[in-house]
Amino acid sequence: MNVKIEKLTKVFPSRDKKGSEVRAVDNFNLEIPDGKLVCLLGPSGCGKSTLLYMICGLESPTEGKIFFGDTDVTDIPSEKRGVGLVFQNYALYPHLTVRQNIKFPLENFKGDAKLSKEEMEKRALEAAKLVQIDGLMDRKPGQMSGGQQQRVAIARALVKMPKVLLMDEPLSNLDARLRLQTREEIRRIQRETGITTIFVTHDQEEAMSISDMIVVMKDGVFHQAGKPQDVYDDPVNKFVANFLGTPAINNFEGRVKDGGLYIGDERVLDVKGVGDKDVWVGIRPEGFEVSSDGKLTCELTGVDVMGRDISVVCKNKASDAVIRAIISAENDVDPKSTNVRFNVKPHKTYLFDKNTEERISFT
Ligand code: ATP
Repeated sequence: MNVKIEKLTKVFPSRDKKGSEVRAVDNFNLEIPDGKLVCLLGPSGCGKSTLLYMICGLESPTEGKIFFGDTDVTDIPSEKRGVGLVFQNYALYPHLTVRQNIKFPLENFKGDAKLSKEEMEKRALEAAKLVQIDGLMDRKPGQMSGGQQQRVAIARALVKMPKVLLMDEPLSNLDARLRLQTREEIRRIQRETGITTIFVTHDQEEAMSISDMIVVMKDGVFHQAGKPQDVYDDPVNKFVANFLGTPAINNFEGRVKDGGLYIGDERVLDVKGVGDKDVWVGIRPEGFEVSSDGKLTCELTGVDVMGRDISVVCKNKASDAVIRAIISAENDVDPKSTNVRFNVKPHKTYLFDKNTEERISFT
């Protein structure tokens, strides 16, 4: 089922008398393809959950429309939309067993949709098998780990055979190891079922690792959508470039003059197609090459060996943050040197307008 969002807006009234209203989601347009796993990604408070809850039907939009396929579902109540929702805190019934928790949504099916006891049992077992907790059907949530409880919550969402599966930060309550394991599980389950899945997270690494498509947003506003690698390689603005990547992109104040990109007084790259102007320069950590005649000189503050790679930590007057360059461990950087010199790779270097922070293309 593909999901289409047209000009979707949600304005909350202020929480107190003096405050102003909050545009949690602002004129959002998006098309989510059928059968894909899509992450809504952005910093805390950017409106991801509000957007998800509108798709779910738990919040009603101030303006705009939501379509599932060709059907306008904007005014259809949540229980009739055919969605499954998984929350961060699992929201299981503590006094019910795993079996009863999973079967619970099926008990509410009415009329033609009503299921026999045997059918409910069969569907609950199938969902439990899918998330690999079929051996724990008689346990209560309190007797299970966080990861197992989240699997029960996923099974409970899947048992209804939803057209769209919605997940609100489902991994946030898990420790680091379980997070990794469970996100792989979610990926596997999504592939096996082919259910269009919308997953909310503020963790870019998590989103990059499991999604077919990421949607980056900030302050309720859409910034960019696409395959994770495409968005990483081709960010539309400084915010998106900064939000994706660990370690983060390195930012410098720079200047384009006479077809050259300057950082401080050093001409670090030839850039064609850009007029003379001040710019923001973003260089990915993997965009540096150490060279004795490198064009960018930085003050060396540390060298961290990370096995296959080295992290060169340094400073430059044109940047107010520490610079991290990730280079191959085959390079020899003397930690006692005062300076380190780099050449920068053009395809890992981005220019942004000083005012709008939109990307400026160059060749
Ligand atoms: P987080 O990652 O912290 O959960 P989020 O990106 O999911 O954040 P939302 O929870 O959607 O963000 O909130 C978006 C904005 O809307 C925030 O400024 C929040 O304070 C505000 N907001 C959310 N719900 C309400 C509400 N019921 N009343 C007023 N403001 C609200």
